[in-house]
Amino acid sequence: MSFFNVFSNDVAIDLGTANTLIWMKGKGIVLNEPTIVAFDRQTKKIIAIGNDAQSMVGKTHKDIKIIRPLRDGVIADFEITEGMLRAFIRKVSNTWQPARRVVVAVPSGITEVEKRTVRDSCEHAGAKEVHLIAEPMASAIGIGLNVHEPVGNMIVDIGGGTTEVAVIALSGIVTAESIKHAGDEMTDAVSQYFRRYHNILIGERTAEMIKCNVGSAMPLEEEIEIEVKGRDLVSGIPKMINVTSVDIRKALADSVDKIVTGVLRLLEKTPPELSADIFDRGILLSGGGALLKGLAEKITKETNLPVHVADEPLTSVVLGTGKALENLSDFSSVLIKRNSY
Ligand code: ADP
Ligand code: MG
Repeated sequence: MSFFNVFSNDVAIDLGTANTLIWMKGKGIVLNEPTIVAFDRQTKKIIAIGNDAQSMVGKTHKDIKIIRPLRDGVIADFEITEGMLRAFIRKVSNTWQPARRVVVAVPSGITEVEKRTVRDSCEHAGAKEVHLIAEPMASAIGIGLNVHEPVGNMIVDIGGGTTEVAVIALSGIVTAESIKHAGDEMTDAVSQYFRRYHNILIGERTAEMIKCNVGSAMPLEEEIEIEVKGRDLVSGIPKMINVTSVDIRKALADSVDKIVTGVLRLLEKTPPELSADIFDRGILLSGGGALLKGLAEKITKETNLPVHVADEPLTSVVLGTGKALENLSDFSSVLIKRNSY
């Protein structure tokens, strides 16, 4: 295959289900866009990626299809994902220099086939050396934890498609679980609430905005009331209704419970010495879902453990992956071993 080389620099990639971030060696974060692709249904040619593709959502005609190729944390379409990755990297690279090194953060529960897919995509795009790092590990490094210590840390990364729960110690993942309840499910729950209880249809972006601005996992000091516009399911006419943060919290409760259950399950599987560390240090939350109001408080309520939210939950994975890229010799022990994929 003749691909022209898009890796002109060393890059670190957080290929998230909702957002893709790229870190370039010596530069820091150079790209942060939604993991979305618009392509021609017939030819499969990519028409737009990232922000450009997102602005087309809900406004396309039959020849254009828009997908989120990693929706559930796995690569649904190999060809499209590879094309998207290439287009993103090309966007931030100059193509004159030789191919280099790439570190990609992947979900901890990724299968061997999926690892291969990520590696192949990067190699096809011209990378000479591809390393994979588990997302929770990258997130821990990004948050600034010393992952080499003989001390247990629990990370909960709540993304779009998956929540990664992991206990890390001595540069490795001791126990981990990737659960398919995360931000997308919460957004869907908001849409469903409007359909079921108010007979109105709202767009996905409206639902996400409501979740981010009004959604919560615990009662708020001051509950919020908002006006929401959508299409009446019966009359088909645009309609506006008022809802409160209490209503939205009820709509989100199931998804929140599933995340809490995942945390409790992993705590049960954690060896006792490490449990003691987690008791002292608490649980760290990262990923966009960590921004849900009251979520840390809710997890504290259910586990009796201190819970901290990362300073920059949306960028901690790419920061950690970037740090690993910049100091590869210090972090070689945390990378996913090559012989295992
Ligand atoms: P991924 O790693 O899967 O790409 P991200 O870590 O980028 O996911 O997080 C994206 C998710 O976080 C989306 O579902 C988004 O709606 C959600 N999110 C972002 N900000 C907030 C917020 N303030 N409250 C609740 N959820 C949020
Ligand atoms: Mg992520």
